[in-house]
Amino acid sequence: MKKIVLIEDENGIARMISVQLQLVGFEVIQAKDLATALELDLSEFDIIVLDWMLPDGDGPDVIPEIRRSTDAPILMLTARSELVDKLTGFEAGADDYLTKPFDMMELIARIKALLRRSEKQKPEKTEAQLQYGEIGMDVDTRSVRVGGEEVVLTPTEFKILEIFMRAPGKVFSRDELIELVMGYEYEGYGRTLDSHIARLRNKIEPDGHERQYIKTVFGVGYKFGDER
Ligand code: CA
Repeated sequence: MKKIVLIEDENGIARMISVQLQLVGFEVIQAKDLATALELDLSEFDIIVLDWMLPDGDGPDVIPEIRRSTDAPILMLTARSELVDKLTGFEAGADDYLTKPFDMMELIARIKALLRRSEKQKPEKTEAQLQYGEIGMDVDTRSVRVGGEEVVLTPTEFKILEIFMRAPGKVFSRDELIELVMGYEYEGYGRTLDSHIARLRNKIEPDGHERQYIKTVFGVGYKFGDER
């Protein structure tokens, strides 16, 4: 399991990032400030996600110190968007840079890309190819087949199905799903989520049968298939 240290003081953001990353198989340790982060054995981690503005200083300022204990890639997070800051981030030795608010899927994609670069090895096929029942998904080519037939999904439907397929049998509350699919901006999204799921069901569920894949969990939300 890949280990990530998340140096981030905003608990809401940290929790959302942790949930997302754990769902795709990472172990996440949060450090709420620079002092706490520097007390950790940073060489244990595969990647460092570093917020810019922290209670006891600026993220870029400690990059040289981080570099003394590890070569792991550093992904900077920041609310600042000016190009000058972006350049400063890279000059300080960060490997990549994301401006808040960002899409969670984008964060995961960047982290995976950084890990692939640092490991200099091919991504594991099993990670990109998911199979459940008759449904096969290739995350790299963004294609979905049901019983061998290609099914065309919208990006949102694809995201929802990927979240489901990575965690068969897990019960997701609607709020949790919205958070996972939409990242930060999700106010009033509940009905929209339901309609995305209705369309996804029309595309993947067999005709004329009770729901085989996406099940409604009354009063809670949804689950996909059964635990394996
Ligand atoms: Ca911060």
